[in-house]
Amino acid sequence: MSIKMESYEEMLKELYSKLPSKIKRKERFEMPEVVSYIEGKKTIFKNFSSIAQKIRRREEMFAKFLSKELGVPVKKEGSVLVLQRKINNRLLQQKVNIFIKEYVICLECNRPDTNIRGEGVKMLVCEACGARRPIK
Ligand SMILES: [Zn+2]
Repeated sequence: MSIKMESYEEMLKELYSKLPSKIKRKERFEMPEVVSYIEGKKTIFKNFSSIAQKIRRREEMFAKFLSKELGVPVKKEGSVLVLQRKINNRLLQQKVNIFIKEYVICLECNRPDTNIRGEGVKMLVCEACGARRPIK
């Protein structure tokens, strides 16, 4: 009787290679948590810059989206974004999630490693899997 000894690593490698590529690459992206607080009649989005960096999107674009979605003027002050109205954290988080789903996450592989390319018709291009889709 002969038993073929395979290392655990080799077994994993073999299993992995049998998976369809789409499943292999699928990974859930953790939405960054919005830190915000109300100050007087305004809302301070405290980690605005850090989220913009994490998702690698221009702050202007991110701020403009939030301003439009929430119907409120916004102003960048240092690394925080000041929203000129009281907006609760949950609502702000919802809008940030929408932005990320629309403008950051690749629908094919769920990864956030994307770039926005093109003039006029803009495309979201995924660095991980090469998928592209038009965005507004
Ligand atoms: Zn992708």
